[in-house]
Amino acid sequence: ETTANKIAAGEVVERPASVVKELVENSIDAQSHFIEVEIVDGGINYIRVSDDGIGMCAADARLAILRHATSKIRTADDLYNIQSLGFRGEALPSIAAVSRFTLTTRLHSEPIGTYIEIQGGQVTDMREAGRNVGTTVTVSDLFFNTPARRKFLKTPATESAYIHDILGKIALARPDIAIKLINNKRQVLATTGTGRLLDAAASLYGYKAAAELLPLDYSDGDIHITGYVGKPHLVKSSRQWQTWTVNGRTISSRMLSKALDNAYHSLLPKNGFPLAIIQIVIPSDKVDVNVHPQKSEVKFSDEQAVFRAVYKAVLSALQAAKG
Ligand code: ADP
Ligand code: MG
Repeated sequence: ETTANKIAAGEVVERPASVVKELVENSIDAQSHFIEVEIVDGGINYIRVSDDGIGMCAADARLAILRHATSKIRTADDLYNIQSLGFRGEALPSIAAVSRFTLTTRLHSEPIGTYIEIQGGQVTDMREAGRNVGTTVTVSDLFFNTPARRKFLKTPATESAYIHDILGKIALARPDIAIKLINNKRQVLATTGTGRLLDAAASLYGYKAAAELLPLDYSDGDIHITGYVGKPHLVKSSRQWQTWTVNGRTISSRMLSKALDNAYHSLLPKNGFPLAIIQIVIPSDKVDVNVHPQKSEVKFSDEQAVFRAVYKAVLSALQAAKG
């Protein structure tokens, strides 16, 4: 079992940023309004994710650390209509297999919470504990028992940049949740959770940049594109300012990046990568989110149709701005 978890961990837990992503997605699935992430040394030595979500009762907390113990898929039909971000029941046991892990949680209807401590996959403590309603997970000494993996990590500065990037993207996907990142005791990211995408963009990129965003609003049949693209001078030398969501999930896709690039370059000379926050809503039976263990890639049943819709959405926003 521990070996299986270590192997599964290789798929789910590549680096501190993947731990943060899995934990924050769990917090989102638990209907949190406020999620705080604290990291030390790029998350290599310490990660804490605290939320104000629904929490778990003692029995569910015990289940949660077992493999394939998802609470999110009850029937085979659920697999075809996945609303939650997680659905494999692999993240917590995988992370706990390769770190020193603690889980403190309290369900809203329970007077007391539960504390579980796991080191390298072995449960070392389990007891009642006080806590506000919600869940806190801490992950220390990531990969302490898999040195080959630990060696593969980059510097703390690079690892924290990955975490900052992924949390920023999640914050844009969910402007209704207040998300905070504390890096080596310093707050480096904080959104307000107003529900307005523009507010989240302002928190991340500053009010000046947010004032220069062009709204997207385009539909083609049952494909709907909303979000913002930056005015043409708002560019970066990489794609770090580009965020995509499909049905509320952050994803990345070469095909979509190409649609965005093509729309810009049909009007403007190539001069970097524009700011873009592009949100695609499409019927769930026309998109497969299950193609990648880290769930960051998707497959559309009609790739061309989505490409065209993004291209046209961006083009018309740029044309409208030109007047
Ligand atoms: P999955 O998200 O695929 O279901 P995980 O291993 O990430 O699997 O989590 C296992 C289970 O633990 C979840 O299905 C959920 O019931 C519970 N859980 C995990 N994190 C939280 C959280 N922050 N708040 C409430 N429940 C949680
Ligand atoms: Mg999960």
